[in-house]
Amino acid sequence: MDTITLNPDIDFIKHTKLASGSSLKQCVQCGECTAVCSLSPVHKPFPRKEMMWAAWGLRDKLTGNPDIWLCHQCGDCSAHCPRGVNPADVLSALRQMNYMHYARPKFLARILNKPSYLPLAVAIPFIIILLIIYSAGTLSIPEGPVLYSKFFPHAWLNSSFFLITLIIAGFTVWGIRKFWSDMKRNYPLRRKAGILTSLKEVISEIIVHRNFNKCSTQKTRGVSHLLVFYGFILLLAVTAGAIVAVITGNYPLPFFSPLKITGNIAALMMFSGLSIMIYQRLFNKKKYGNTNYSDWLLLVVLMLLTISGVVLEVARYQNWHLAYHIYFLHLILVWFLIFYAPYIKFGHFIYRTVALVYARSRGRIIS
Ligand code: SF4
Ligand code: SF4
Repeated sequence: MDTITLNPDIDFIKHTKLASGSSLKQCVQCGECTAVCSLSPVHKPFPRKEMMWAAWGLRDKLTGNPDIWLCHQCGDCSAHCPRGVNPADVLSALRQMNYMHYARPKFLARILNKPSYLPLAVAIPFIIILLIIYSAGTLSIPEGPVLYSKFFPHAWLNSSFFLITLIIAGFTVWGIRKFWSDMKRNYPLRRKAGILTSLKEVISEIIVHRNFNKCSTQKTRGVSHLLVFYGFILLLAVTAGAIVAVITGNYPLPFFSPLKITGNIAALMMFSGLSIMIYQRLFNKKKYGNTNYSDWLLLVVLMLLTISGVVLEVARYQNWHLAYHIYFLHLILVWFLIFYAPYIKFGHFIYRTVALVYARSRGRIIS
């Protein structure tokens, strides 16, 4: 008989338990979680096998594992687990450990995922933005009616943020390439569909959040995610429109311009969706699972970004004295979301999309 040697990674077990708030040893491998999961494929289904690997500390099996990204954290498995283990939270913790594993440079992932490093995480954009404004020669509170470009000239803002976005995009591609090659090595399935065809199918899935609609335990989760998702896309479109308005000399925009109205609708969508999420996590923990530091960091940053964006608008029309201070805070929040994206929970959107494309192209998702 062949002998299989297992090398449990004790640190990995400890970290998974801590991040998920679940006791892995309670799992008796009954398979109930797999039986109730509506997203699990017939062949090699999840999450029972992942629960076993997590309890055994098999880090390699759970790194570059596309299955943990097929899970949409509906909580059905946790609701049915007879041992109260919460597999949904375990898979969520594994996803977080995955994007930390692939993030480059690694020190940023460490800074962004430890509460004690939060002051440092805030200090980095604070200093860099301050230096850019100083280099632009506008580091003082301007006199007269509020016009944010007097404090941070558009040419400096757009070019510096564009450059930093390019650098972060390069780091993200670096991490994603490693993730893709690990999935190919750990899940060597034969390709059944082209990458572009799979990408198109994944995008059509994401657009309607089809997989969220299969949840039975957390029915409202799809609604809150859709509100935040479309609110955010609209805000990105409005930002792009504002840059065009600057370039074509049509800035600042009047209050009732279509772009402003769209921006305000988007902010309202974001605010509503985030409020639902925060309420559910605060007051319905049993149903919505464990909320760890990375969950709260993303929710709080998104909420502050939404609120500060609206306050900024009022501050400009009302010529508030503190308008430029609020603007500075808003820029730090933008930094947090865009430039720290691969290192905070926001990055799971990128990794999930890539994993779904891989799974589709390998016939692991067929619906
Ligand atoms: S996590 Fe719960 S439902 Fe799943 S196999 Fe373990 S004990 Fe059973
Ligand atoms: S949380 Fe939902 S999608 Fe994820 S494994 Fe459990 S039942 Fe399946």
